[in-house]
Amino acid sequence: MRGVVFTGDRELEIMSFPDPTPGFGEVVLEMKASGMCGSDLKQYRRPRGVRQNNGLATAEGPVIAGHEPCGVVAAIGPGVDPRQARVGQRVMVHHYQGCTSCNHCRTGWQQLCQKTSVKVYGNNAHGGHAPYMCVPANTLVPLHEGLSFKAGAAISCGTGTAWGALRRMNVSGNDTIAIFGQGPVGLSATQLAAAMGARVIALDISPQRLERARQFGAAETINPSNVEPVAAIRELTHGLGADLTLDTSSSPQARIQAIRALKVWGTCCFVGEGGEVTIDVSPDMLRRQATVIGSWTFSSVGQEECAQFILDRGITVDDLFTETWRLDQAEEAYRLFDTQTSGKGVFLL
Ligand SMILES: [Zn+2]
Ligand SMILES: [Zn+2]
Repeated sequence: MRGVVFTGDRELEIMSFPDPTPGFGEVVLEMKASGMCGSDLKQYRRPRGVRQNNGLATAEGPVIAGHEPCGVVAAIGPGVDPRQARVGQRVMVHHYQGCTSCNHCRTGWQQLCQKTSVKVYGNNAHGGHAPYMCVPANTLVPLHEGLSFKAGAAISCGTGTAWGALRRMNVSGNDTIAIFGQGPVGLSATQLAAAMGARVIALDISPQRLERARQFGAAETINPSNVEPVAAIRELTHGLGADLTLDTSSSPQARIQAIRALKVWGTCCFVGEGGEVTIDVSPDMLRRQATVIGSWTFSSVGQEECAQFILDRGITVDDLFTETWRLDQAEEAYRLFDTQTSGKGVFLL
């Protein structure tokens, strides 16, 4: 089979790999949809020859990209409990593998495993940008008939990450939340927070992305290229600041603005990967009793809950996707995604 590999310096190759066969406890999926996530860009842009530096073990040899995998079970290896997987079943992948037996792994947070070097599918283990993918059966999360494979792909990282952050902040209808960055994760957060009843203030430097944020439920939009965002958020909140803020952009300026735009006792959450922020601790945090938290994706249980919320509320996650691609269009797909002005892309197989 052929799979997409990021080779560095904003280049990729479609390379040949043997068709996978499931080992003990594993299944092979026939991929139906494999999403493009903002964090792919980190791997796509890294200099040629330089391996990742995000705390993960490095894989040997080329690795198939794509960490939003969704498809159907095509083959089942020995030792798989029939309750875990059956041929033809529609599934998403919780795209991590830890030791499977520590407390983090057993509660569905395999990415937090401290006992072994964690595999992240699409990063240091083969991901979903290929016709087939082999994963342990314990990474599967069922996909309801009422959700498309595209929706399942989004839930498998970008949309699930937004949901995980909002749940950690206990967003409710009482809250005004300012969401910095309206890329795929930020736009999902806007859509989900609005469905949870919150008043959403969406921020982005792209007017097109702000326009989409309005369509996805933002009550207010702010373009930080035109106005000072902290002042603008205060103006929209009776001078108090937002109850909650979320940074999806990874920009150092946006991160500090997200903290400064909080009301007293407010909570700020960072989900954007990489980079840094400088915080003047006393005025920015202590004097305002600020809570600043980080949120890394979601558990496998959370992934299923996110899917259920989306199904029950009829949330049109499919609308996040502005582009659908075939695998042989991967170069063009990532070149466009790299501009960070488009919506989300997905490979349909
Ligand atoms: Zn573990
Ligand atoms: Zn992702």
